[in-house]
Amino acid sequence: MFWPHHKIPHLPPLLTQKWDEIYTPSQLIRSMFILLCILGSAILIFSALTIYWVSKAYILDRAEAEAISISQSFTNNHYELVLASENANIDISNMAEDKLDTAFRQTLAPFHMIKVKVFTPDRTIAYSTDKSIIGTTNIGNDSLEKALLGEDVSKMYTKNSEMDLRFEQHFDIDVVATYTPVFNQAGQIAGAFEIYQDVTRFRDDMNTAILTGTLIVLTNLLIIFFIAYRFMRLPLSALKVAHKKLQRMATKDSLTQIDNRSQALSFFDKEIYRLNQFGGKLSIILMDLDKFKLINDTYGHPAGDEVIKQCAKAIRACLRQGDCVGRYGGEEFIIILPHANEQQAFNVAERIRNVIKNLKIVYDGKTIPVSISAGITEVLSTEENTDEVINTDDLIKEADQALYDAKAKGRNCSICASQFAMAK
Ligand code: GH3
Ligand code: MG
Ligand code: MG
Repeated sequence: MFWPHHKIPHLPPLLTQKWDEIYTPSQLIRSMFILLCILGSAILIFSALTIYWVSKAYILDRAEAEAISISQSFTNNHYELVLASENANIDISNMAEDKLDTAFRQTLAPFHMIKVKVFTPDRTIAYSTDKSIIGTTNIGNDSLEKALLGEDVSKMYTKNSEMDLRFEQHFDIDVVATYTPVFNQAGQIAGAFEIYQDVTRFRDDMNTAILTGTLIVLTNLLIIFFIAYRFMRLPLSALKVAHKKLQRMATKDSLTQIDNRSQALSFFDKEIYRLNQFGGKLSIILMDLDKFKLINDTYGHPAGDEVIKQCAKAIRACLRQGDCVGRYGGEEFIIILPHANEQQAFNVAERIRNVIKNLKIVYDGKTIPVSISAGITEVLSTEENTDEVINTDDLIKEADQALYDAKAKGRNCSICASQFAMAK
């Protein structure tokens, strides 16, 4: 028998496993465990990020509040250095640069302020601790625009190096730049300050907060998982036992403990699928006990049962691990031999037939003589004949026909569907 050779897509790997492909509690537990690990990791990452953002927002708020209060107190205490009169705007021509510089450095240096810029309402830098930029205009700076409209704006950066107000160079520092409006005594917006503050000292606090927070979340998760595991352990092992029992009931024949008909046919389907994918060959044997009705009639039904049991055991013992034997009907067995051609299957059938013929089955002190007949067929996959459509039923029909021939030829013999081999 020839079988067309098609390529079929590979089965999905574990991580792409769909829920309807889960058959056992162990698979379910493994999938749940993977899912919990993924969820746990996501919760940890989310917690760490949340703590980072909250800490950053806290540092930003704190630095902004500090910069605003310092800029307001500086304006109040050094009003004449910043603004010429009660309702004047900041004006570059009125800046007493040296005095302002000294005042800024003395007032702000103890508060970790590292740079200051003073803007006129027309966005010109009227004063800066960096002298080289005085007189330049800063158009298109959103934060400055907001400050000139009365809003306070802060941003956090990491800088490679920066000089502080005491002329000390700092490397790899975190700074918060705050833009804040400057009001004259008439309450009008007269310009803006940009104050750079060194907040590197909070970096360790932030890292500690992230680490401790994440560790607390991790501990909580582990406690929750542990409690859930303790509660679920017993029901899960009960489920495993129940599933194993059900699986046995659904797949094994209760009298003989070999595969039942549907399990053997499902094995057959899988082997055909494998053959289809990778090519190769397989053979099936149908075996039927001879004149079994007579055995029942002569020795009784329980004796018949015992015969079926012992024959099934003998057949199983004649096969390799990868072969399958199932109880196909009352006293009929189906044997599937992966990788075997018809000749090899014939040899197996003959071995079984001889073993059964020589079985010494004793029931109620009486020895029951038994013999069995076999019908054999093979499937070979091929690149050619791709149009040929064949199903397992057709193969079984062929083996059944061969078995019928064996019965017709006098029983206790094996017949191949291709008729090339027969023996007694
Ligand atoms: P043949 O050589 O042509 O196969 O003859 P046979 O008597 O074996 O065939 P037939 O199909 O006429 O009889 C099979 C008998 O097997 C009939 C049925 O009562 C019996 N049988 C089926 N299942 C069981 C079972 O589980 N236990 C027992 N004891 N007998 C069974
Ligand atoms: Mg029979
Ligand atoms: Mg029968």
